[in-house]
Amino acid sequence: MNFELSDEQRLLRETVRDFARQEVAPVAEELDREKRFPYEIVAKMGALGLMGIPFPQDYGGGGADTLSYVLAVEELARVDSSVCITMAAHTSLGTMPIHLWGSDEQRQEWLPELCSGRRLASFGLTEPEAGSDAGNVRTTARLEDGEWVINGAKQFITNSGTDISGCVSITAVTGEADGRREISNLIVATGTPGYEAGEPYRKMGWNASDTRPLTFEDCRVAESNLLGRRGDGFKNFLHILDGGRIGVAAMGVGLAQGALDEALAYAKERVAFGQPISKYQAIQAKIADLSAQIEAARLLTWRAALEKDAGESFTLTAAQAKLLTGRLAVRATEEAVQIHGGYGYIEEYPVCRFYRDAKILTIGEGTDEVQQMVIARQLGC
Ligand SMILES: Cc1cc2nc3c(=O)[nH]c(=O)nc-3n(C[C@H](O)[C@H](O)[C@H](O)COP(=O)(O)OP(=O)(O)OC[C@H]3O[C@@H](n4cnc5c(N)ncnc54)[C@H](O)[C@@H]3O)c2cc1C
Repeated sequence: MNFELSDEQRLLRETVRDFARQEVAPVAEELDREKRFPYEIVAKMGALGLMGIPFPQDYGGGGADTLSYVLAVEELARVDSSVCITMAAHTSLGTMPIHLWGSDEQRQEWLPELCSGRRLASFGLTEPEAGSDAGNVRTTARLEDGEWVINGAKQFITNSGTDISGCVSITAVTGEADGRREISNLIVATGTPGYEAGEPYRKMGWNASDTRPLTFEDCRVAESNLLGRRGDGFKNFLHILDGGRIGVAAMGVGLAQGALDEALAYAKERVAFGQPISKYQAIQAKIADLSAQIEAARLLTWRAALEKDAGESFTLTAAQAKLLTGRLAVRATEEAVQIHGGYGYIEEYPVCRFYRDAKILTIGEGTDEVQQMVIARQLGC
């Protein structure tokens, strides 16, 4: 397996790194404090081609591979997780199902708008009674006079209630086949009567990202809004989560790297007992451990991306990477706060936000316990 980056991949990484430092870092604290969605930054990411990295160029996407996408996610998360999850949830959760299973008409209708960042896509899987047990869908859709009539609720849905939210792809029970519930995917456009996004949640972190509950009350969409084959909805969304885990793992690597960057810079500046704290072995040990663990986690994440791009099975590696990097991000941000002492507890310092932003990485897109289940199954348990 070749971990050497191509010239295009290096260029993309440099471009996103510069963008994150120049455009995102100066406003990240304010956006977080005001819980304000970063519309201007999303527009700029769209103009830079960051809102459709892995999608075909014919539709305005970047036509790039998964590793390129991973590099962009890492660089954004290194500076701000809210901006990063807005881009990542839009790409690997929201837009990907339309790219993979959309009809020509659905792709024409949605992909150019989504790849440009003019519209955002979201992914509606989780429900009040269907989180880790994602197959326990209660939302229903019945065909009536050539339309699907949708009833039910989703929760914790990223990018669903902004001014530029275009559509959500959902799972819904569309009938029964062979005594089993048939689950399908449907695209529901924002503004469809009967479809409402509720008030945003008050969250621990990811404060500048948009997360809301959704309700569907006799919400009618055309029969042609079925996404993919009828009955394939659960299987298809599990596939999306598999790929999404690579992106979330890249977020963990980026966030841990950002925490290390901040901790190292601070340790070199902060003087205690007459010299910078970076001169003390207790601080050096934390920095050295983190740097080794981050590099290992990065390589595992890149490996999952390379397996996906090579058309190989990547379920095991993606789950391993997601499990490892989420925990690493939590530990790295905690150590970074520790190295900052009291200032680490103060919001002006990025590590304070990083610490709050890290925890979701052990929960979203499959909890640690779910990753352990996936890994154990892959190993034959
Ligand atoms: C900020 C945020 C953004 C999100 N964005 C989206 C989104 O865009 N789209 C979307 O569909 N969802 C989204 N989610 C939902 C997220 O994916 C779920 O919260 C997550 O999958 C866990 O589901 P749950 O919250 O129902 O927890 P539960 O499934 O109720 O889990 C509770 C606890 O029980 C454990 N547990 C459950 N089952 C088992 C088992 N069999 N064995 C061992 N332990 C088990 C879990 O690991 C966890 O520790 C988001 C969540 C948040 C907080």
